[in-house]
Amino acid sequence: MSYKTHTCGELRLEHAGRHVTLAGWVHRRRDHGGVIFIDLRDRFGLTQVVINPANVRSPEVFAQAEALRNEYVIQVEGVVAQRPAGMANPKLATGEIEVIAHDVTVLNPAKTPPFAIDDDGRNVDENLRLKYRYLDLRRERMARNLIIRHTFVKFIRDYLDARGFIEVETPILFKTTPEGARDYLVPSRVHPGCFYALPQSPQQLKQLLMVAGVERYFQIARCFRDEDQRADRQPEFTQLDLEMSFVDRDDVLNLIEGLFTEFTERYAHLHGKRLSFKPFPRLTYEEAMERFGSDKPDLRYGMELFDVTAETRGSEFLPFRVAHVKGICAAGCAGYTRKQADELTEFARRQGAKGLVVLWHDPDGIRNTGAGAKLSQAEKDGIVAKAGSKPGDLILLVADDDRRVVNTVLGELRHELGERLKLADDGVMAFAWIVDFPLFEWNAEENRWDPSHHMFTAPKDEHLPLLETDPGSVRSKQYDLVCNGYEVGGGSIRIHRRDVQERVMRLIGLEIEEARRKFGHLLEAFEYGAPPHGGIAPGIDRLTMLYCGEPNIREVMAFPKNQQAMDVMAGAPSPVYEQQLKELHIRLAL
Ligand code: ASP
Repeated sequence: MSYKTHTCGELRLEHAGRHVTLAGWVHRRRDHGGVIFIDLRDRFGLTQVVINPANVRSPEVFAQAEALRNEYVIQVEGVVAQRPAGMANPKLATGEIEVIAHDVTVLNPAKTPPFAIDDDGRNVDENLRLKYRYLDLRRERMARNLIIRHTFVKFIRDYLDARGFIEVETPILFKTTPEGARDYLVPSRVHPGCFYALPQSPQQLKQLLMVAGVERYFQIARCFRDEDQRADRQPEFTQLDLEMSFVDRDDVLNLIEGLFTEFTERYAHLHGKRLSFKPFPRLTYEEAMERFGSDKPDLRYGMELFDVTAETRGSEFLPFRVAHVKGICAAGCAGYTRKQADELTEFARRQGAKGLVVLWHDPDGIRNTGAGAKLSQAEKDGIVAKAGSKPGDLILLVADDDRRVVNTVLGELRHELGERLKLADDGVMAFAWIVDFPLFEWNAEENRWDPSHHMFTAPKDEHLPLLETDPGSVRSKQYDLVCNGYEVGGGSIRIHRRDVQERVMRLIGLEIEEARRKFGHLLEAFEYGAPPHGGIAPGIDRLTMLYCGEPNIREVMAFPKNQQAMDVMAGAPSPVYEQQLKELHIRLAL
């Protein structure tokens, strides 16, 4: 006999009179003068159970019910009844009925949990939640997150299957596939002194699948990157990894845009989010930097950067005697005190600015204090016109000879003020594409060019001749999907010719010998008829986090590591036995 005839989320008024058996956890228990009320919980919902001495099979059943505590696992047999007049709970799907118990069986008692489970858990210390993750996941919020994630992944699989894609698994024990992070290494027992690298992504493997003629590949793929933890990073995470042959950029963008548009709209009842834009806006990297100071701008609000370089040309004010002056307008912030303005200045300095010029827009114009006292009326008028500011607004200006500094500092300020002023609507997903990235970024520390995306990204055809002569101006066929201030996916059209790939490798400082040792298999494959191809890899964790309205990706992973990259439940990583190290030919030098 099965343990239950119905789930705890299933019974409705039409079941009244039905004899049922339920099983689940004691969510809450109330004693009302000789009658015990239990909220019985399973993954599907809650059902109220009434245990009345008058209805139970025997006095022992009632005695047993009196001993029930939260999180006991029980089975209840009884009859469905309409709740008495005025007692219905409209917030609960099963709120119109209750189950009048005849029999109650304890399947397993439970110790008192280390924290309450009947709330959202946001006030509980996170390490404690992670140590008892199996209890934490019983919360309604966490169960919902798991369900949204499942639905999302299932939708992706169906969407791609319907469009001719096949899911192919690729190895975890592999060779370095760099995405800009450190590799996780696994020592080989059979090959002393040799190591596998866990893939930072299946990038090379999916490209090899294109050479293999798979043409439309995807995988819900685990990626491993040894980097410092942040709210939106984990040592291992999941991507929708995808690659297509015989496509241009727009083929990939349209496919993915369709996927997210359809998922957002079709499952709005589940996640509660709306799309901000349809179709998704496409910004060049340069436009994103100029207008928002970021290559992953939050487009849920405006507060765009404006340029007053021309308006401040020849200024008497010393800080403005530089190549670039830009600003943002913080609407309604003229109430900021000098001290608050100093804090913003400190913030801007930490982001790399030399300082911050703060102007208060009063009813009679720009206030005559600080920088405001040093600017000419023409300058002030020009700034107000460009800022589009009104009395009551605060204008923030950054001046520097390096335009990138001006843009990124203002981008950070925009983000900071956006948060403080709560400008972003929590109910929307503001997807956008960023395109035309530079192929390389200058790495001043190492004194070399780094790939902006990864080294397999193709340069724009017309920029190919500039590779060696002017690498900094080469634009690539990279594209990023951004949403609500996060990069939620990156991809590109790839290099599919050995000679071009070797030129890019040489440029980023990979000696030809080293390149062949590490990537010889891929370079060789390119010589056997590699088709033109490209792909993308949206991050499942980050996207699920946004759909669930969670502040970090740990909330949408069943068993995440904590911010020190530890699994505090199982205690990983942990030391191993001497014998194991010996087998792996490893001696520790701690
Ligand atoms: N492999 C890339 C990444 O993990 C995605 C891609 O280019 O398809 O970011």
